Amino acid sequence: MPCETNEELVDLLESVRGTTKLGKVADYIPALGKAEAKDLSVAIYHVENSCMSAGDVEKLFTLQSISKVLALAFVLMDHGEADVFELIGMEPTGDPFNSMIKLETHNPSKPLNPMINAGALAVTSMIKGSSKDEKFDRLLQFIKLLSNNDKISYCKEVASSEFDTAHLNRAICYFMKQHGIIKDNVEDLMEIYTKQCAIQMHSMDLAKIGAVFALDGIHPETGERLIRDDIARICKTFMVTCGMYNASGEFAIKIGIPAKSGVSGGIMGIVPYQFGIGIFGPSLDEKGNSIAGIKLLERLSKKYKLSIF
Ligand code: GLU
Repeated sequence: MPCETNEELVDLLESVRGTTKLGKVADYIPALGKAEAKDLSVAIYHVENSCMSAGDVEKLFTLQSISKVLALAFVLMDHGEADVFELIGMEPTGDPFNSMIKLETHNPSKPLNPMINAGALAVTSMIKGSSKDEKFDRLLQFIKLLSNNDKISYCKEVASSEFDTAHLNRAICYFMKQHGIIKDNVEDLMEIYTKQCAIQMHSMDLAKIGAVFALDGIHPETGERLIRDDIARICKTFMVTCGMYNASGEFAIKIGIPAKSGVSGGIMGIVPYQFGIGIFGPSLDEKGNSIAGIKLLERLSKKYKLSIF
């Protein structure tokens, strides 16, 4: 299903594009620092298979933390709820996404949720496979199915840029290994995780993945069930409680839809039983969310009364 430019959406997007000047692109992963701050795109994929878009829709971006939701769904299907939540908690942390402080102070020592780096690294370590390549390929195949796009792959430059500089994530891994939360070779896990974060797509692909979650796991185009409905619901709940970093509470109040953002400036939003939303706007606010993306979602939510609450 092609995605058509929608004039109303173009007007909305252009009305917030100026806010891109107020934020800045992430550069702690050096390759992400090359993004153009003024870029902004949105796609909305309806569960009845129509799609509309606006802005710089031809731009590819990496999923970064948005991949945490997809890896969680995949691992929950591989292992079941009990095994996953024995190792990873369900509570928001109130700390930055890459913090490790609660690993040490929380009893028992386990990551508080799968949307922070510690929890996401533990999730990635649970992907089944006989080698690091097989594990990553299985996840990639799943994401190809979710987007119904066989061309999806990962950006080698972003993956190796993160791999070379991910000292804090390595520290988190070693801490978790000491405490038996992960058992992997840390370098292998970092390779899979950085490739996972570097999986790249267009906002239309992301909107389509959002639509799968909007339908509790059924793909709107193929009608195939890709995620069990109870698992899709768990993922959406984490998106509400921890999906937008330390702005998740304010986001729930002001916008009120399950959403997950990433430091690349991507946001996947879900309006249950209606549509998925894919946004790319690499200029970030101080909490790490796409500054124009949040504004755009706020306007969309107010105008079309999208809050689930
Ligand atoms: N790959 C990034 C990291 O682990 C993802 C962070 C994010 O998007 O929040 O630092």
